[in-house]
Amino acid sequence: MFDALARGFREARNRLSGLTELNEKSIKAALREIRLSLLEADVELGVVKRFLARVEEAALGSTVQTRIKHGGDTHQVTAGDQFIKICNDELVKLLAHDGEVVAYAPSGSRTAVMMVGLQGSGKTTTAAKLALWFQKQDRKPMLVAADMQRPAAVEQLKVLGEQIDVPVFNIPNETPVAICTAADAEAQKLGCDVVIYDTAGRLAIDEPLMTELGEIKSAVTPDNVLLVIDAMIGQDAVTTAKSFNERLAISGVVLTKLDGDARGGAALSVKEVTGAPVAFVGLGETLDKLEEFRAEGMAGRILGMGDVVGLMKDFEDVVDQKKAEEDAAKMLSGDFTLEDFLNQVRTIQQMGSLKDLVEKMPGLGGMMPPGADLDDGELVRIEAMIQSMTKAERRDPNSMVREPTRVARVAKGSGHTEQAVGELIQKFLFMKQMMDGMGQNMGMLGNIPGMKNVAMARNMRRAMKSGKMPGGGMPGMPGMPGMPGMPGMPGMPPMGVPGMGMPGMGMPGAAGPASEPAKSMKKLSKSEKNARKSQRKRERAARKKGKK
Ligand code: GDP
Repeated sequence: MFDALARGFREARNRLSGLTELNEKSIKAALREIRLSLLEADVELGVVKRFLARVEEAALGSTVQTRIKHGGDTHQVTAGDQFIKICNDELVKLLAHDGEVVAYAPSGSRTAVMMVGLQGSGKTTTAAKLALWFQKQDRKPMLVAADMQRPAAVEQLKVLGEQIDVPVFNIPNETPVAICTAADAEAQKLGCDVVIYDTAGRLAIDEPLMTELGEIKSAVTPDNVLLVIDAMIGQDAVTTAKSFNERLAISGVVLTKLDGDARGGAALSVKEVTGAPVAFVGLGETLDKLEEFRAEGMAGRILGMGDVVGLMKDFEDVVDQKKAEEDAAKMLSGDFTLEDFLNQVRTIQQMGSLKDLVEKMPGLGGMMPPGADLDDGELVRIEAMIQSMTKAERRDPNSMVREPTRVARVAKGSGHTEQAVGELIQKFLFMKQMMDGMGQNMGMLGNIPGMKNVAMARNMRRAMKSGKMPGGGMPGMPGMPGMPGMPGMPGMPPMGVPGMGMPGMGMPGAAGPASEPAKSMKKLSKSEKNARKSQRKRERAARKKGKK
């Protein structure tokens, strides 16, 4: 969805490749590429200008330290890396908001969320999506059908409410203001702690609509006024946001239909224009397709660095927290086998399409290899093939690459062609490689419960094996205090994303949390390491036992 935007930043980086310093001329050339792609993606002109000015100022004022020596190793950062890092910081500033995505009422009273927006923007759908989201936060929502403008809106909301077991309040033949006024008492009676008001829209903004919404707002004094905007309307999104904000002082925006052909520019303009951040994005028609908007994730996707936290959240939604951590630990520990792959494929199917997932993975957005998506029939085939492999082969699929007779045997045993078996192995290796990339990036992963230790242990092992600094990043970064004699580089996150040609470039937003694992890594004593090792061993044994 952010192809146009991503392309501009990629081109900018290419222009700077090979350069050892950021000078005025090279910065200008890079900025030209970004300007074009921002405009092409429908980012508002004023926002484009201000964003570029900020990036230019930061880039001109920065000095690039391209080579850093440590312990006989030379680590390299390119001017392109440095420039993208600056872009990342400025993008995050443009998108980020302080605090929670929604404001909650003090305990004892009900949190009120008023949905506003033009007709067709996805308001009613989003109201129901939001109710589901609140349910996942262990809240008890009630929906209020106060869109008396669009004939089917009340019925539509009732149907959606039923799907997710959320009560829908309406009083036939009453005015929207009267319905909304009566809603809170009903919510209290039902024991609900969140009330979501679905209000009327119009095809275009007009005075009667604004008056009605103003009256509702005064009547229910909502904690949140969320403006729903269809991302497909491009530049008009900004005008719409401006008008609604002037009359209703919106608290946040939900950008819908980002799964379609929308170019996503509105996401970049909204906060700068209204002061209200994008709180959620809609990524499909079904009720589970609502995501909290994360500035770092968005910047990562735009810069082609993926959205690891979003990915892990998806995992957590379908499997319980403990299992998610175990899975993640497995994937990243290098113990990931074809059997785990099979389990993973099943989980992934619960999470949505593999294509969606790959979009979120660092460096892989838009790089889904053809035919890599999986359907149910394929799952059955995969299962058959994996079951025809020996334990050793499942653990080490490369053995089948080395000895093709193994492939022939598995093909025969499972009733599939050798080509199918070969493809399965390729898919597995592809996935393992993706997981490897993730495992090495501690910046974002450090934010996920349970992940820190995994990445840490893994990097420790690597470091010990190779005798190099852990993480593959640049030494001497802030966050590794107390290491003598190493040059620092202010403002750069510590950990690298190795294998992506971006030494030293952490994931977006990594600067804070990333320093933490680095610190604790130092503290791991030999006995702690041994304890972890035996813990892993015990877990493996327990899992094995469980399988039997
Ligand atoms: P309202 O008039 O603002 O209440 O709009 P609706 O909720 O009825 O939505 C209008 C259309 O947009 C419906 O067909 C929805 O299914 C669709 N829609 C809403 N949100 C999304 C989204 O995030 N992605 C896609 N693809 N469609 C959406």
